[in-house]
Amino acid sequence: MIIVMDIKSSKPQVDLVIEKLETSGFQAHLILGVKRIVIGAVGDRAAIYSLGLEGMPGVIGVVPIMHPYKLVSKEAAGGTSIVKVGDTEIGGSKVVLIAGPCAVESETQIYQAAEAVKKQGAKILRGGTFKPRTSPYSFQGMEEEGLKIMQAAAKEYGLATVTEVVDLPSLDTALEYVDMVQIGARNMQNFRLLQAVGKAKRPVLLKRGLSATIEEWLMAAEYIASEGNASVILCERGIRTFETATRNTLDISAIPLVKSLSHLPVLVDPSHATGIRALVAPMSLAAVAAGADGLLIEVHPEPAKALCDGPQSLSPDEFEKLVQELIPIVAAVKKTL
Ligand code: PEP
Ligand code: MN
Repeated sequence: MIIVMDIKSSKPQVDLVIEKLETSGFQAHLILGVKRIVIGAVGDRAAIYSLGLEGMPGVIGVVPIMHPYKLVSKEAAGGTSIVKVGDTEIGGSKVVLIAGPCAVESETQIYQAAEAVKKQGAKILRGGTFKPRTSPYSFQGMEEEGLKIMQAAAKEYGLATVTEVVDLPSLDTALEYVDMVQIGARNMQNFRLLQAVGKAKRPVLLKRGLSATIEEWLMAAEYIASEGNASVILCERGIRTFETATRNTLDISAIPLVKSLSHLPVLVDPSHATGIRALVAPMSLAAVAAGADGLLIEVHPEPAKALCDGPQSLSPDEFEKLVQELIPIVAAVKKTL
């Protein structure tokens, strides 16, 4: 069950509802949305109805939710929600571009990447600094040093930032430098980490797990929301199938499906979804046509020299071409870049 309250409700009004639930033996989870205040209540439906919460000041309604995920369900927000990252709104009428290298490698590299993506209208700079690599012998990331130079490069070009966190220490470090933290595919079901980013109250970019169902993905988002952090952005990045010709299989149908089930914004990462540079542009166009709120794209000043994911990274020129190709598609879905 969720108790939906007017966004203008006072703190004492909200506290009173929570107190009533808790003193009656129900667990209450407060989530402060952009349009509404929602309290998730766990317990027997009939018993919650019998509390008479509907008549309390500020309460708009008591809504049963059939899905196992409650706070991130469409019903909880009564529409779509907008997540703000720095000055950028994700989930509204704009298609937001997040771009940058797979990993921060050097000061020169991240400054060149920041300049290139800013020039094409990207709003957020991506750059991995704690890399979850399949091999322990691969480049593991520049960690805090990388975060410092990425923050400086982003400041120079007026961009917000996102980096992946892989554990609690990397989260603590990243929170000092970035506007949004990313939970990668490999950690989508690292529940303690999800709870920690939920407590951190910083926007979270939540990638879909390598073999996660839509419900498992939304339950991962629910973990974050249940800690009081409503600023979650979902990112479809391809799933494992029997196909080996592409790195993963991009599930385009997940975009409209998830948007029908949840109020959260949905991004698409065509770079990790395909692993092939030539497929990044066509998959970007398909994603926007299917309703994606934005794209997460790997761009490297010199892809051939990339320490990580070079074969799927676009050069600045290729990124420019992609943005040009996106313009008519963005217009066709009545959005702007
Ligand atoms: C990444 O974005 O750098 C990354 C590792 O992605 P994923 O978790 O989707 O593999
Ligand atoms: Mn990568």
